[in-house]
Amino acid sequence: MAEKNPEISVVIPVYNEELNLKELVDRCIAACNKINRSYEILLVDDGSADRSADMITQAAEKHPGKIIGILLSTNFGQHAAVTAGLSQARGKYIITLDADLQNPPEEIHKLVDKLVEGYDVVGTIRENRQDTFFRRVASKMVNHMVRRLTRGNTMTDYGCMLRGYSRAVVTAILDCHEHGKFIPMMAMSFARKSAEVHVKHAERAAGESKYSVWKLIALQYDLLTGTTTFPLRMLTFFGFLIALLGMAFGIFIFIMTRIYDPEWGGNGIFTLFAILFVFIGAQFAGMGLLGEYIGKIHLNARGRPQFYVEKIVRGEPKS
Ligand code: UDP
Ligand code: MG
Repeated sequence: MAEKNPEISVVIPVYNEELNLKELVDRCIAACNKINRSYEILLVDDGSADRSADMITQAAEKHPGKIIGILLSTNFGQHAAVTAGLSQARGKYIITLDADLQNPPEEIHKLVDKLVEGYDVVGTIRENRQDTFFRRVASKMVNHMVRRLTRGNTMTDYGCMLRGYSRAVVTAILDCHEHGKFIPMMAMSFARKSAEVHVKHAERAAGESKYSVWKLIALQYDLLTGTTTFPLRMLTFFGFLIALLGMAFGIFIFIMTRIYDPEWGGNGIFTLFAILFVFIGAQFAGMGLLGEYIGKIHLNARGRPQFYVEKIVRGEPKS
């Protein structure tokens, strides 16, 4: 007979975190035991090159039912690892967390409380954030962009991975099969009621950040191209602008050659420039237009569900 599903699932992506794993497991178990609800902790090894996978296996054997190890074949990236964890999670309330102990596991109960209250997505605001100056600036930019992209239904901070989701939202996320998804943002697009709680933030306990500047830039690109075709529109706009300026320049040269002598403007060299601008502009506009079509294909290809039904209510006919 199948075991009863736990109430809480904690999903943690792990990539080369051998120095943090022991403390992570101990503190998570201690924190979850305090909550008084059944739970499971899913540790997803994202193809670590160190002993993380072995340590996860051992932890799963030592704490059967409480720790579940999911070992990915190679490194797929943080969000893919989280998705893998979500796909195995059975809980009614799902919490995600980083393995480096920057998000204290002792804060999990705050998120669970909110989920129990009926919120779909629970975000967090990091109190006195412990990151480098560069990371904080980058994070500000991402948050600003995401807020612009999500409009209306949005949050203060998307960077912190300590987050809570209802079962309904997780099911919706798992229905999206596109690559390179940014889970916190995707979750918001399915949320009915969201909340934010204040949590503590610590420095990375050991090891170093897995995000280089390049990886962060790649993430930004993923985010942008995954949600909007706005940059393509800019291309079209830019193209038309150049073409118009080119035309204006042409007219300007025409008038000047009438007023002064026909040699004004280097015997027609400037006129060539004007013509060139018009063509370059038209090319950009054409590229932007092409991009719009590609954008449509992209939107259809990723096949995100257009809506998500949370529940269907049918009244019982009175007899
Ligand atoms: N991580 C992962 N796969 C990766 C990179 C990171 O599973 O390719 C995990 C990592 O082990 C950690 C979390 O994602 O649990 C966040 O990574 P990190 O702490 O390096 O990011 P930062 O805190 O610097 O944003
Ligand atoms: Mg970290």
